[in-house]
Amino acid sequence: MPSSADSLEALQARRLAREISAREQAEALLEQKSLELFNQALDRERAVVALRESEERYRLIVELSPDAIVIEVDEKIIFSNSAARILFAESSSLSLEGNSLLSLAGPSFKQKTQEELHRLRNGHNLNESEEVAVRLDGTTFEVSVQRVGLSYKGKTAVQMIARDISSRKQLEQQLAYQATHDGLTGIPNRNRLMEMLREALNFADRYQFPVWVAFLDLDRFKFINDHYGHRVGDKLLINLTRRLQGILRKTDIVGRYGGDEFILVLRGGPDDNMNAVMVERIMETVNEPLIIDSHYLKLSGSLGLATYPADGSNPDVLIENADIAMYRAKESGRNQHQFFTREMNQQHQERGQIESALFNALERNELFLEYQPQLDVQSGRIKGVEALLRWQHPELGLLSPARFINIAEECGMIVRIGEWVIHQACQQCADWERAGLGQLRVAVNLSVRQLDANGLFGIIEAALTASGLAPACLELELTETLMMSDLERTLTVLHKLRAIGVGIAVDDFGTGYSSFAYIKRLPLDSLKIDQSFIRELEENEDSHIIVRALIQLAHNLKLRVIAEGVETKFQYEFLKQYGCDEIQGYLYCKPLLPAALEAWLKEHP
Ligand code: C2E
Ligand code: MG
Ligand code: MG
Repeated sequence: MPSSADSLEALQARRLAREISAREQAEALLEQKSLELFNQALDRERAVVALRESEERYRLIVELSPDAIVIEVDEKIIFSNSAARILFAESSSLSLEGNSLLSLAGPSFKQKTQEELHRLRNGHNLNESEEVAVRLDGTTFEVSVQRVGLSYKGKTAVQMIARDISSRKQLEQQLAYQATHDGLTGIPNRNRLMEMLREALNFADRYQFPVWVAFLDLDRFKFINDHYGHRVGDKLLINLTRRLQGILRKTDIVGRYGGDEFILVLRGGPDDNMNAVMVERIMETVNEPLIIDSHYLKLSGSLGLATYPADGSNPDVLIENADIAMYRAKESGRNQHQFFTREMNQQHQERGQIESALFNALERNELFLEYQPQLDVQSGRIKGVEALLRWQHPELGLLSPARFINIAEECGMIVRIGEWVIHQACQQCADWERAGLGQLRVAVNLSVRQLDANGLFGIIEAALTASGLAPACLELELTETLMMSDLERTLTVLHKLRAIGVGIAVDDFGTGYSSFAYIKRLPLDSLKIDQSFIRELEENEDSHIIVRALIQLAHNLKLRVIAEGVETKFQYEFLKQYGCDEIQGYLYCKPLLPAALEAWLKEHP
């Protein structure tokens, strides 16, 4: 049995052990707590550093941002980054701080900005917009802005981010301008013109006004370009544009439609006569002489007019019809104006019909030549024949060249057709010689497009070789205007042809623009007096003087003179008396088919 002293000791020992364990537990707890506290303090310290770092980073980003950043609290700017200072305040000594965001909005954006700021202060966020802003010095510029509401140091604030977009806007405007304006003259181009015409028609609809669409095409502009160079041509177009702008009323429009084509839109008013006066003025303006780079130039133009609503309900139709009328003005002798008529449209369609049929005319053997004799006035003997083109059109019947040569020239078909004519005429003439009908000269008419085409010399050489015809038996007939249209090039080709012995004649002499100074430079053999002068011999004394003068002029230039369209004995006697060399006309013989001509030749040896 344990003694009482023993049990006390044990009791004390147990208590001590309990105390030690409790203390140890408390100490461990304390240690854990202090570790936790230490960690918490460490975290807090880290967080503070992180926050400071992130604030620093933010400040740096904001400061270095290329966008202007401004913060406003209580309607006063309290912060601005350097981009903002450069954008809004660089040119003034003032500071942005203390101003309001509203004061930076352009006059036309004040109201909108004010409403927006109000909404932002009440917690709404807004999207980016493009506006005009004002600098502190009062100048304005275009910006893209974004405003957001935020809390700044416990207060409601608005942050504005702005970027200068003036140069982008300028570029946009420049591109838009280029897309809608003619680079040379600065007036609306075709695209813009169509738009403006559409607007004008809408306006006219609303107020019941007529609108006149005028299609202006300069006559012989190619000649000016070729002859004086493109620089002069360009200056001329600019000059003409300025003068047209000078006479137009505020409501009228002038635009450039193509190279030498202008469209004028004349807005009618209660007094319709005003537009008629305008048309007169336009024609006068085109005709006014110009001096460009010391060249004295006189322009003329052909004007076609279509009216709205009578001649078309939309821009396309109106312009097309004005174009048709312009063509008619050109056909009837240039430097005129013509109003569109329904019957013009019909003729225009027929023209289209002719053009498409012309493409197949050669292959289908629908083209053929007739030959008209050219006689020596004194002896009455045949010297040569002129080859004249005919077309047996499947639907329209027999067509004279007047009906289709122009069209063939415009669509370029004349080059192929012309080549065929040269070959055919040379072959025929050589065949006649071989058949014992004597050596005749054959005259072939040329078009301007044939001179443009490079191969003319080669074509003629080939035709002569293939047929075996002597070059001296071929004569080419060219009109004056044709030769003048590109004088230098014409001279080169003609000299080459002349060198191999081919003859050159000026056709329809007296009707063109030619100056005698130019005629002297051309390598010519003969001159054909236009039939209009011959026709007038009986009616008009003046034409006596002209015909005599033309004969004399030709002889002075050592050229043979042929009178064409001789129909009466009187004309023949007159021409004989004044020394004309040859005649051609119905008085002796109409153009004939080869077989008929052979028969005629046998009768008139
Ligand atoms: P051009 O070269 O001046 O031809 C003369 C025109 O006068 C011909 O008309 C002829 O038939 C006509 N004629 C001849 N004698 C008389 C007369 O006594 N009285 C009247 N009133 N007329 C007469 P055509 O055959 O209708 O030819 C017209 C024009 O077509 C020609 O005028 C010529 O410029 C052109 N042409 C004809 N054939 C060709 C061709 O192969 N190529 C080209 N490019 N043009 C041609
Ligand atoms: Mg002729
Ligand atoms: Mg003629």
